[in-house]
Amino acid sequence: MIKQLSLIVIGILFIPSLFAQTKLDTLLPIRGFCIASPRQEKVDDFIKFIQDELVPRKVNTLVLRVHFNYEYESHPELRDENALSKVDVKKMVEVCQNNDIRIIPMINLLGHQSGGSNLRNLLKVYPQFDETPHVKMPKEYVWPNDDELYCKSYCPLHPEVHDVVFDLVDEILDVFEADAFHAGMDEVFYLGDDLCPRCSGRDKAELFAGEVTLIRNHLAKQNRELWIWGDRMIDGKTTGLGMWEASMNQTYRSIDLIPKDVVINDWHYVKAVPTASYFAVKGFKVISCPYRIPDVAIKQLETTLIYRETSTAEMKEKFAGVMQTTWSGADKFMDQFYGKVSDEHRRGGSAVKTFIALFDEIGKLEE
Ligand SMILES: [Zn+2]
Repeated sequence: MIKQLSLIVIGILFIPSLFAQTKLDTLLPIRGFCIASPRQEKVDDFIKFIQDELVPRKVNTLVLRVHFNYEYESHPELRDENALSKVDVKKMVEVCQNNDIRIIPMINLLGHQSGGSNLRNLLKVYPQFDETPHVKMPKEYVWPNDDELYCKSYCPLHPEVHDVVFDLVDEILDVFEADAFHAGMDEVFYLGDDLCPRCSGRDKAELFAGEVTLIRNHLAKQNRELWIWGDRMIDGKTTGLGMWEASMNQTYRSIDLIPKDVVINDWHYVKAVPTASYFAVKGFKVISCPYRIPDVAIKQLETTLIYRETSTAEMKEKFAGVMQTTWSGADKFMDQFYGKVSDEHRRGGSAVKTFIALFDEIGKLEE
């Protein structure tokens, strides 16, 4: 009897919050936040940030850009210095699990294998995977440059590259206990290079789609989902969106070549262009992603809600939600958030103010 009574009491205590959660989940299933993984000494601060700032704002998806910031056992040669340990990761996993936040770790695959004048770990250790070995890293990086070097890519047709990167993918998903992986894959400019003995002359849309499909199939074997950025699948010329947030290098036809269960993160930072509907009509689950301009974020939220409201049942769930992205490190974002350093972005706006404004609006949906 006492047991039954206590169950009823627990039920009464929990039912209101369950109902509130359900209403928000129905209106906006994915409420995401994307940030770099913290440096090791900031893990505890980051956990506090999750508890104090993400949980009350009802963030339920955390895309964590880990890359090489983990003590990989499968490939210790690819670890960053002072990388996160298993204990660090498990602390983050625990706080997220306790608060129903789904963690999706990211390692940039294909593109973003260098930054500025530095190669990232994969090509530093395995230079044979470089799509453009003839392009030398500059001492001082400037854009634009004669090589049109933004970031290096690995060669998707190199026969050994996937043996290495899939080891990392499997290991990071296991340690994060994750059911989805984010492969990045934005802004891939070096692809199908004329001098690559394997890729030259091949169709770039097919090369891109081939790599997405290979990663998706690898994940699907363990019932895991693939998330990627959407820019390579939008026609940059026709839309006027250009080479960064869309494709000017002939990859956009890949939208018709990849499996439909790949989840698209549709990022647009200066205008809330309606490309989410393009992905949804093609059959993809899509998440709209703002960055530094609050009005853009709010418009992306509003259009997501309108698309859901006005869609057929078949299409409604494709508009899965919104995800705030921030491109400073986790440490810097926390310092900006708590006013220790300026949060003003060099090109105007603020990721902190956008995050706050977006989740204030999301909070109102529960009222
Ligand atoms: Zn190649």
